[in-house]
Amino acid sequence: MSESTVRIGLVLPDVMGTYGDSGNALVLQQRLRMRGHDAEIVEIGLSDPVPDSLDLYTLGGAEDSAQRLATRHLQRYPGLQRAAERGAPVLAICAAIQVLGHWYETSSGERVDGVGLLDATTSPQQVRSIGEVVTTPITDALSLPLTGFENHRGGTTLGPDARGLGRVTRGVGNGVGDGLEGAVQGSVIGTYLHGPVLARNPELADHLLARALQVDSLPPLDLPEVELLRRERLRA
Ligand code: GLN
Repeated sequence: MSESTVRIGLVLPDVMGTYGDSGNALVLQQRLRMRGHDAEIVEIGLSDPVPDSLDLYTLGGAEDSAQRLATRHLQRYPGLQRAAERGAPVLAICAAIQVLGHWYETSSGERVDGVGLLDATTSPQQVRSIGEVVTTPITDALSLPLTGFENHRGGTTLGPDARGLGRVTRGVGNGVGDGLEGAVQGSVIGTYLHGPVLARNPELADHLLARALQVDSLPPLDLPEVELLRRERLRA
């Protein structure tokens, strides 16, 4: 590893990796390597403290019980919170939005204090939301529709300090009737989209990478297979 190696934190894949979301870290690493950067995935498990020195971080979805273990760990070792404060990009999928919010209620009605990086709260909805989602990004930094697969019972309400990531054109999203999907606050981007989302939305991957490298944009990659996958998912 050299000093210029980009270090991608894969946070708690042992408990927050049930839906293949660890693939997001692989996509980031691969897109960096294709552009000539050294890139390393640093796995942070439940037996490790969370370092604050990495270049970007990803967290995946989880069931309620695993989500609770992850919440406790992130509160005990607040490296992710320190990294986000200095502007390191953080990608939080599904349960991770809930964990990074102020609090969430599990399906059994227990209220758990979250990490407080997102101005968001989550309560269980009557019906579980499962299926394909398509959204139109709200941020000017993204121009292409976002696609993914949702599977959650929690519905997330955003407070004034957080914005949605996209407006739902298909599927449910945050599930509280405001038509929003995901949450963006500072350097943290949360989304309910599994997929993994970065394999299905390379523009979002490059947005995170550009922020991590502190550049305005990255040279495009010509990857016909990725485009084919996108077209298939958008058509489905
Ligand atoms: N346990 C959470 C819910 O059902 C998150 C699920 C997930 O990460 N897919 O809302």
